[in-house]
Amino acid sequence: MPGRSLSLRKRHSNKKKCPCDCGNRVGKCNFRYKLEKIKTVAKRKWFRKQHEIFKKELKRIQANKK
Ligand SMILES: [Zn+2]
Repeated sequence: MPGRSLSLRKRHSNKKKCPCDCGNRVGKCNFRYKLEKIKTVAKRKWFRKQHEIFKKELKRIQANKK
């Protein structure tokens, strides 16, 4: 039944409690906007880290060539 699984998924997401101790669900609190910001920052940091690793690896490879 497609309608049943949809309602189940909706109910599950509504049940998620907000991590900021407001007692509300995430969907009812402004914290979800902060959460989204945190996620984007984390992604940017992750990409920067990957870039550093890549640069180091590139240097290592070039050093091995000599
Ligand atoms: Zn909250």
